[in-house]
Amino acid sequence: MSPVKKTTAEWKALEARYYMQVVRRMPPVIVRGLGTKVWDNDGKEYLDFTAGWAVMNVGHSHPKVVEAVREQAGLITQMTNLFYTTPQLELAQILVDNSCLDRVFFCNSGAEANEGASKVAKKWGRLKLNGAYEIITANNSFHGRTQAMMAATGQPHYQEKWMPLMPGFVNVDFNDVDAIKKATNEKTCAVLVEPVQGEGGVNMPAPDYLKRVQDWCKSKNILFMLDEVQTGMGRLGTMFGYQRFAGVEPDVMTLAKALGAGTPLGAFMTKEFCSVLEPGDHGSTFGGNALATAAGAAAAKVIVEEKVADKAMKAGAYLTGKLNALKEKHHFIKEVRGMGVLIGLEMKDNRSAPVVRECLDNGLLLNAVRPNTIRFMPPLTVSNAEIDQAVKVLDAALSKIPAPAA
Ligand SMILES: *Cc1c(COP(=O)(O)O)cnc(C)c1O
Repeated sequence: MSPVKKTTAEWKALEARYYMQVVRRMPPVIVRGLGTKVWDNDGKEYLDFTAGWAVMNVGHSHPKVVEAVREQAGLITQMTNLFYTTPQLELAQILVDNSCLDRVFFCNSGAEANEGASKVAKKWGRLKLNGAYEIITANNSFHGRTQAMMAATGQPHYQEKWMPLMPGFVNVDFNDVDAIKKATNEKTCAVLVEPVQGEGGVNMPAPDYLKRVQDWCKSKNILFMLDEVQTGMGRLGTMFGYQRFAGVEPDVMTLAKALGAGTPLGAFMTKEFCSVLEPGDHGSTFGGNALATAAGAAAAKVIVEEKVADKAMKAGAYLTGKLNALKEKHHFIKEVRGMGVLIGLEMKDNRSAPVVRECLDNGLLLNAVRPNTIRFMPPLTVSNAEIDQAVKVLDAALSKIPAPAA
């Protein structure tokens, strides 16, 4: 059951001695996963409602993904993009056939996908808008950790220590179309927002926000770009998050997280009219490699063929109902919000860290996305029984953890 090669204490000692200390890690050493469950080095079982950070949409070690990776590893894993390779083309076809976008470029992460999208926008500005280069993004957004994406990410916490930021990004309030209009000028080439803000605390847009931003972009001939790194691949209850919003179709869309089903894989996609990158403009050694795209193609097929997004819609509704019932019982719960299975539970005080820690001790992995907000992002294949179990653990934790001292 537990593949102990070293004790948990020994693994942790290695981390403390050798790993760069940039994360405050949670206690367990996780060694295995299956579906919604993961196991630590001591054989303890957890329900993983973080899904490897909104990555394992079809669950940990899905048999079809495991088989695809095994098979591909024995065939070929990496060539240069100078040659044709096959799994990337299969995955590109699935993504284009199931979206409003026409072309795809594969990279290795969400940050890289947004970097690529930014290059498309800059090129668009160069070709069509007199060299306009500025991209409007939202406060409380998250677009990644590279130098440029820290400037795109509208959160002081990710920016303050890294001044001067890369130029070319303007942050305005999320869900405020007028703020975008005000920030638009002759330098603007694009707007980049998340359909639902994930890392920012599960922040919902007004139902017509994205459509109004899209209309504004169209009227100014600037690109409407959606960061679907977290919301794509079924998470919001449709294959891509934008499909939950009437009339919304991005010009450019970025994907990562669930795209590779646990392998490092990102993508940016464009509509034909703004597919402006030419040979030599962009590239990636690993981007679109056969191993990651074989995993991605297998997972994407599962999502399409087994209607996993529909399952997410149902699971999300079920979980939301259960969390709203907890709200009746625990009056310090302020709001349950979200879409599909990207759900936030906001409290009136800052007790998410101790509640998450208590849940962990009792076999449930959650994310304290804000001091007062807990995020739920389980695999989309999570069962009602697993949701019942998770809510039971959470309920007990909410009953036990007192309000923080004022
Ligand atoms: C996680 C995330 C990113 C960054 O992805 P990385 O793979 O960590 O670079 C970008 N945008 C959104 C919306 C994300 O949730």
